[in-house]
Amino acid sequence: MPATDALPAGQAESFDAITSLIERSERIAVCAHTSPDGDALGSQLALIELIERTWPEKDVRGLLADDDVVPRIYQFLPGSERLVRARDYAEDPDLFVCVDLSQPDRLNEAAAVLGRSARVAVLDHHPSAAPFWDAGVVRPSAAAAGVIVAEYALHLAGALTETMAQCLLCALVTDTGRFQYQNANGEAFRVASALVDAGASPSEVSLHVYQSDRVSYLHLSATVMGRITTFEQGRIAYSYATMADLEANAVPVAECDGLVDIVRRVDGCEIALFLKEVPGGKVRGNLRAKSDRDISVVAREMGGGGHPAAAGFTVEGDIDQALAVVLPKLRALYAEGEGGR
Ligand code: 5GP
Ligand code: MN
Repeated sequence: MPATDALPAGQAESFDAITSLIERSERIAVCAHTSPDGDALGSQLALIELIERTWPEKDVRGLLADDDVVPRIYQFLPGSERLVRARDYAEDPDLFVCVDLSQPDRLNEAAAVLGRSARVAVLDHHPSAAPFWDAGVVRPSAAAAGVIVAEYALHLAGALTETMAQCLLCALVTDTGRFQYQNANGEAFRVASALVDAGASPSEVSLHVYQSDRVSYLHLSATVMGRITTFEQGRIAYSYATMADLEANAVPVAECDGLVDIVRRVDGCEIALFLKEVPGGKVRGNLRAKSDRDISVVAREMGGGGHPAAAGFTVEGDIDQALAVVLPKLRALYAEGEGGR
C-alpha cells in the first residue's frame, strides 16, 4: 500500500479538506451512481464504515440512486442491507458524499437529495466535466474509486478493517475485470495486496460475483453469444438483449452487467458493444475498448460517459434505433484510428 507520503501530489491535502467537511457535518449521506456496480457499492460501503468508525456520533446514511434493490451478486457485501433508496430519504443532509461518480446526472433519484445538501464531497476516478463539489479527489489514473477510498482510509485511520477490505477488494476486482483490463496498474495490485493482508478474501468475492450465475442468466448469455456480430474485419463486435429476452429468461436488468464481457471475448475485436432494452422505452449501451481507442468519446456523443476503455450510455428507442445511431459512430472512430496508424 502506498504510504500516505507516497500519495499523488495534492491528494493528501484534498483528503484533509474532505475530512474537515465531515467534521463540520452531523447528517451525512453517502451515495454512488445509478445502476451501481461492484466499485460503486464496495467503495460506498467501505466509506460509510470508515466515517462511522471514525465519528460514531454522526448520522451516516447510505443511499441507492435508483428505486431498486442491491443487485443480487453484491448482496454479500457487508453492510449492503442498510442501503436505502434515495427516494425514501427525507432529510436535508449537511454533507452529501458522491462515490464512484462525479457527474450529477448519474445520481438519478438521489439528485434531489444532492439539491437539499448543504455541502458536497466527491471520491471518484471518472474523467469529470465541471466540479460541483466543495472538496474532492477525482483521479482518473486510479483503477477504481475503491483505490481512492482505500487510500483515504489509510490516510485517515492508518488501517483497514476486514469488512472494509472485503468491500474494497470487490470494488477493485470488478472495475479491473479481475485485474485484466487496461486500468490494472501497479497501484491497483499494491492496494489489492494490502486489502488481502487486511483480511479481504479474493475467493469469496469471486464466488459471489463470478461463480453464482443463475442458470437462466447463463441461458440469456447463450442467446447474447449466439447473436454476436462483427464488422470492420472483426475489429468491432456487438450483441444485444431485448426486453423479451430478459423476460423470457426472468433475468432482472440489473443483473446483465457481465454481458458486455462476452462480446469483448471475440478474438481481434478492438471495440465491443452490448445493448439491452430497459424499462421506459430506452436502450442502455455498454462500450469497451481492447486497444487504445477512446470509446468514451462515442459514449459522450450518445449522452453518456465513462473511461477511455469502459463507458456507457442510455438512449430512447429500441435496439434497432440505437444501433442505427451508434454503429456509424463506432465505424468512424475505428476509421479515424486506422488513418492515424
Ligand atoms: P458500464 O458500461 O459498466 O455501465 O459503465 C462503464 C463505465 O462508464 C463506468 O465507469 C460507468 O460509471 C461509466 N458510465 C456508464 N454509463 C454512463 C453514463 O450514462 N454517463 C456517464 N457519465 N458515465 C457512464
Ligand atoms: Mn468505478
